[in-house]
Amino acid sequence: MEEKIGMTELYAPYLRIREEVDAAVDEVIAQAAFINGPAVARFAEGLADYLGARHVVPCGNGTDALVLALTAAGVSPGDEVILPAFTFGATAQAVLLTGGTPVLADVDPATFNLDPASVERLVGPRTRAIVPVHLFGCCADMEAIMRLAAERNIRVVEDNAQSLGAQHVASDGTRRAAGLVGDIGCTSFFPTKNLGCFGDGGAVYTDDDALAARVRSIANHGQRGRKYYSEERGFNSRLDTIQAAVLNVKLPRLDEYIGARRRAAAWYRCRLEDVAGIELPCEPAYCRHTYNQYTLKIAGGRRDRVRERLAGEGISSTVYYPWPLYRQPAFGGVCRCDGLMHVAPALSECVLSLPMHTELTERQVDRVAACVKRAME
Ligand SMILES: *Cc1c(COP(=O)(O)O)cnc(C)c1O
Repeated sequence: MEEKIGMTELYAPYLRIREEVDAAVDEVIAQAAFINGPAVARFAEGLADYLGARHVVPCGNGTDALVLALTAAGVSPGDEVILPAFTFGATAQAVLLTGGTPVLADVDPATFNLDPASVERLVGPRTRAIVPVHLFGCCADMEAIMRLAAERNIRVVEDNAQSLGAQHVASDGTRRAAGLVGDIGCTSFFPTKNLGCFGDGGAVYTDDDALAARVRSIANHGQRGRKYYSEERGFNSRLDTIQAAVLNVKLPRLDEYIGARRRAAAWYRCRLEDVAGIELPCEPAYCRHTYNQYTLKIAGGRRDRVRERLAGEGISSTVYYPWPLYRQPAFGGVCRCDGLMHVAPALSECVLSLPMHTELTERQVDRVAACVKRAME
């Protein structure tokens, strides 16, 4: 059988930066600076520069980032938080961890992201925050969401775990990093994300001084400066110094990594755009896609057949996400949605994500695309 093609490739990118990474990690160990070492502050500064953010607060992972941001935004028991029904469960789990109630909105069939019309139907007196998720590498339609939120004094917390490096372009041409359009952005450095470390990591970022101070406090047991003196309820969430050291080597290459993903996406596009029954990822005018995933929509119930054919040729593919949130036991009983939800469940039936990472070669994309085409004949 021919060479296997996996969804991701995590070792080869390390080999290209091995000396720098090894030296950075060795330095942390030599200094025994395991917790809050200098590499952590350096990374926070570097990421703030890259994003154009006033504050970056590194933390333990992307789920913690969401819990921290939601709590700092004032979400507490009894509050409702609107988020898309089509996302990774962490977005809704984070709401549950704050004691808030997830309210699930439908998504746009072309971009997979929050549908502002659905959000508008669900907004109510108890809505404290809206969480747009920038899924698969592409921003949600933020202008409509920001308008909705501003009219009602609702906080916007962006789940940017999958789209770090994406730029949102407003209709007047204003560009902002995804995550800085709303009040506060959250991201993850899980190894397969756009900027991945060698374990768990995350960050919260914002231009709002008060929100940043609150996040720092909650992530440090509610201590605000005075040690061993907790002023509010909090927990411990930190980015390991070793992970920060790895991220310091990778951050200057983030745009290059995104470039490699976009190049692979372009290869897929020119091979698959004419295949009947397949819809390719959409590139809306308001966002430069970073292709954390390359997700097709396959019509006519043929998705699983394509998946099997790919597997038969040693090619991985994944269904992100096979169940909308309200069909999962953790959320079904506690969330609220309306009877007009129809895009999210339809997507779960037809989406298929193909291998996508920085190391894909044109020859590999050829093989994947040819196999998809044959399965659709
Ligand atoms: C990965 C991810 C998270 C959680 O990040 P972790 O670092 O794994 O906790 C949250 N939301 C979305 C959309 C994600 O893809």
